[in-house]
Amino acid sequence: MIVIISGGGIGGLTAALCLNHFGIEAEIHEKAPELLEIGAGIQISPNAMKVFQALGLDDKIVAAGFLPEAIEIRRGEGGSHLIKTPLKSKTEKRYGAPYVHIHRADLVACLKAAVSERSGILLNLASSVVGFRQSDAAVSVELESGQTHDADALIGADGIHSAVRHQMLGPDAPRFTGNVALRAVVSVKELGSNIPAPTACAWVGSGKHAVTYLLRGGELANLVAVVERGDWQIESWSEPANKEEALRDFAGWHPIVTDMLEASDELYRWALFDRDPLTSWVSGRAALLGDAAHPMLPFMAQGAAMAIEDAWALAASLSLRNDLPEALRDYQNVRYARASKVQAKSRANADLFHAGTFSERVIRQAPIRIADRVAPQLGLQQQDWIYGYDIVEAMGV
Ligand code: FAD
Repeated sequence: MIVIISGGGIGGLTAALCLNHFGIEAEIHEKAPELLEIGAGIQISPNAMKVFQALGLDDKIVAAGFLPEAIEIRRGEGGSHLIKTPLKSKTEKRYGAPYVHIHRADLVACLKAAVSERSGILLNLASSVVGFRQSDAAVSVELESGQTHDADALIGADGIHSAVRHQMLGPDAPRFTGNVALRAVVSVKELGSNIPAPTACAWVGSGKHAVTYLLRGGELANLVAVVERGDWQIESWSEPANKEEALRDFAGWHPIVTDMLEASDELYRWALFDRDPLTSWVSGRAALLGDAAHPMLPFMAQGAAMAIEDAWALAASLSLRNDLPEALRDYQNVRYARASKVQAKSRANADLFHAGTFSERVIRQAPIRIADRVAPQLGLQQQDWIYGYDIVEAMGV
């Protein structure tokens, strides 16, 4: 069996490795001329690390990343703690896998190295998928070059603006959330005394929040800052942001946040759009995976984790059934409810972090604060459904 994958992002590369694990040939087409990720960090939670354990990549990913001590929520103004939940000492025991922060380029480098070490995976760069045709027996994938490549199945892992999804379901209808995300990675040497703690820290305030964490063994600090703005709406990381404007948005916030903005050489912005769950991810011999299937707001840091879980589920489903369209339907059945729930929770977290007046936020955040004081383990218990899930065990192969 041979499977064509449109897109060589985190989802597409992981899908190729999972297919290879089950002895299925994979051919990736990535439109970019090089596998380069944007300069930003990513949190890889234990549920996703389970897949990397099964692929034998977890040690390399841990070595290239950083293991946060705790999850914190702090007020952006003043810095007081709402929550601090231990993470590093707990996750291995509780979930059987670590919680890792890693530079996206370092994660992609690990995946790319694994792809090139394994026979049975072909990686075509500067190769855009523009469409596909299918019969009962095969799928014919059309490339921008004018060539067509035949395969048994096509996976659309081509992200938020997926061409495969567009052909399957028509144009999508994103809603601008009124939020814009800013991103920066800064060397900790540039930061003097205001280095982010070795935690995953969400800073919350009215109409904005920020997340800080360390990368690459603690050499680099990562900032994602989200601010409510209606005046700018482009969904792309290649758009530079204006540093002075960002500093004005976060004026009066804790210096850990403002010093990172100040020290950033490259600050990028991405308008955050929300989408409802799709009606279907599968059509005959074609299936969607990752952001192409379930684009979500980043407020649970689970978009890539869901793509990684998808990759295992899809490859395992193909290995379990001879009827390929049936196998793809099994994949959707295994994944749809969980990914849709994470999509919905990510949307709900936007309100928790920054909607409303100060008194409304105090009321909304009070249960979290009380729970943290009375029973700090509750913070992690609330994450069990997400971090404790094991797609490798769920698929049983
Ligand atoms: P992408 O990463 O978008 O990859 C798609 C690939 O397909 C790209 O390489 C693209 O060049 C290629 N492509 C596109 N069109 C074509 C075509 N027609 N033909 C061939 N190739 C094509 N997730 C987490 O799990 N943890 C986090 O901490 C986290 N933080 C986030 C912070 C922010 C601010 C944002 C916006 C997102 C965050 N996410 C996080 C979500 C995560 O970044 C995405 O869910 C993840 O990158 C999706 O991976 P993907 O492979 O599905 O898509």
